Amino acid sequence: MSDLLAKPGEACGVFGVYTPGVKASSLIYFGLFALQHRGQESAGIASSDGHTVTVYKDLGLVAQVFDETSLAALDGHIGIGHTRYSTTGSNRWENAQPVHRQVGGTSIALAHNGNLTNASDLARRFAPGLGSTDSELMIDAIAASVEDGRSDDRGLERALIEVLPSFQGAFSLVIMDQGRLIGVRDPNGFRPLCLGRLPDEGWVLSSETAGLDILGARFVREVAAGEMVVIDAAGVRSEMPFATTDPRLCAFEFVYFARPDSQLYGRSIHAARHDMGRRLASEHPVTADVVVPVPESGIPAAQGFAAAAGIPYADGLVKNRYVGRTFIEPNQLLRDRGVRLKLNPIPATLAGQRVVLIDDSIVRGSTTKQLVTLVRDAGAAEVHVRISSPPYRWPCFYGMDTSDRSTLIAASMEVEEIRDHIGADSLGYLSLAGLMEATATAGAGFCHACLSGEYPTDVSAANGKYLLEPTHPGL
Ligand code: SF4
Repeated sequence: MSDLLAKPGEACGVFGVYTPGVKASSLIYFGLFALQHRGQESAGIASSDGHTVTVYKDLGLVAQVFDETSLAALDGHIGIGHTRYSTTGSNRWENAQPVHRQVGGTSIALAHNGNLTNASDLARRFAPGLGSTDSELMIDAIAASVEDGRSDDRGLERALIEVLPSFQGAFSLVIMDQGRLIGVRDPNGFRPLCLGRLPDEGWVLSSETAGLDILGARFVREVAAGEMVVIDAAGVRSEMPFATTDPRLCAFEFVYFARPDSQLYGRSIHAARHDMGRRLASEHPVTADVVVPVPESGIPAAQGFAAAAGIPYADGLVKNRYVGRTFIEPNQLLRDRGVRLKLNPIPATLAGQRVVLIDDSIVRGSTTKQLVTLVRDAGAAEVHVRISSPPYRWPCFYGMDTSDRSTLIAASMEVEEIRDHIGADSLGYLSLAGLMEATATAGAGFCHACLSGEYPTDVSAANGKYLLEPTHPGL
């Protein structure tokens, strides 16, 4: 598997449907398309007809994993789905989600977006099963609690109230048994999760509002940080299983991860990114001829920058849309072409021009360096790089694939050194205050640990992506 643009990895998409009278899996299938950007390594759906839970999952994109035959086998009116980017565990079939356990007569399926920071503690109590993910540990802990209280009618619900407080870190979950759909957000709400209402009857849980839109579902509300919503024949009810809550939505959802057509904290992601660009223009003005985005996530910020600076906006890089995460590891010849596999310059826009190149982040720096070279080779007279977020200096332990600080260029270099390294004529980053103001969500809590080093929770026990792999030295 190859990420040719070397962006921080998205952290999975989760989706759930409870819809009496309609086949849930076909709705989830479309919902997963809307969440494909959050994970391209594997996809899966679990569904229940009230008696049996069936799971189908595989490596690959949603369109590669599912066809008419596999969807036909996923019967029933309740279901959950998942698109995966590996933030713990490698990319292999056993790590695909939903994960499933059978405990007596109870069949449980779970899909997870996020990353636990106490997985090593849990691993001591629950040996991971076939897979090597923290999601496996979560379902093992839940299954053990269901088993303890088998005679209790509330089964899964009661088990979750008991077990959830032992999980630390980031987890937006969709969980189901034969008769109910449950959504959970950790007490900090690092990863998003929202609730929607289907036009006729039924409910939807989705990582992003774009997953509601694709089904014509009405946005009801975000699941609150620390909330558990239970959906069954009696309707929707809410529980608060955690002792305290402190909302800290990932600021990078606004910068890069969420779709521009989604909303978080009631704010349009596209509008927020446009505003980041406007603020970037006032914080780091430059005399130039054209503003060019790095597609696609840099587009709204580039539009905002151009509007605020009074410099024309133009497409100077075209995305080779269907190249990306594929099962075929590019050979050396293709790898040497690096970023060109994904982006191709338009010399007519760039030649002889003083170019402002807008991107949302610099993580390792190698991609930005190649982009600057690409734009210069296409004839640009000057290349001024502007980044619509602050320097990414600290590792994320909450579900982004950046837990190794040594790979982060801004952890060891100052801005001027980075400018020199990437070969730009100038470089400017949006300030943290500018980023927060651009979200225009007064009073809302954010995590910005990767930008500020201020972690909202204790991460001393957090470990790397491969902690639970059998070959990891920690095991
Ligand atoms: S550390 Fe950064 S990427 Fe991770 S959750 Fe916090 S803001 Fe998001």
